[in-house]
Amino acid sequence: MKKVLVATGNKGKLSEISKLLQNIDIEAFGINDHKLCEPEEDGLTFEENAIIKAKYYGDHVGEIALADDSGLVIPAIGGNPGIHSARWAPDKDFNIAFEAIKQQLKEKNIDPGKEVVSAYFICNLSLYNPKTNEVNSFEGRVDGVLQFPPRGSNGFGYDPIFIKNASDLTFAEISAEEKEAVSHRSDAFRKLLKFLTKNNF
Ligand code: IMP
Repeated sequence: MKKVLVATGNKGKLSEISKLLQNIDIEAFGINDHKLCEPEEDGLTFEENAIIKAKYYGDHVGEIALADDSGLVIPAIGGNPGIHSARWAPDKDFNIAFEAIKQQLKEKNIDPGKEVVSAYFICNLSLYNPKTNEVNSFEGRVDGVLQFPPRGSNGFGYDPIFIKNASDLTFAEISAEEKEAVSHRSDAFRKLLKFLTKNNF
């Protein structure tokens, strides 16, 4: 069976990704056994950051590595929080991030409680082979609008303030299965799995 190193220390992410890869007979393993510092994610795009992580771990471990980078983009405030989505929520306190978004919108004279504000989630997956230096990236996206005040208690992160287009419910008000069917992460994974299958990986 082929093996892929999943460049994440997050056990939940590893188990989710493992299940998806198992479907096409690929075994996923995590970086937890390798005592490595985290690389600095100083790329300017989701793709650059995913590649930084895939290359860092792939080169250290010597195995094909898969890394992801994701976040929420709000064009009305210059694409924020974008690649800094995690950093906008210190200690994973997303109320701080929600307040910061509201504040930046206010500075642009936009009231997200009254006006429609577009936003989208991006997930980039990058696959790196240290033996050939080959990198392949796959980007998933889901478009929608912001919801203020936040609503719902399912999901995580920015889910309570995001409503996908053609829906009335936030990502925190729908089930995990419903979200999985339409999310940026699933979109990126569909592209990755198609590539792996097509290339007989
Ligand atoms: P990372 O790619 O795991 O570093 O996550 C980037 C940031 O984007 C984190 O703060 C996540 O909470 C946020 N994020 C990524 N995907 C989602 C999502 O599906 N829902 C809500 N927040 C997300």
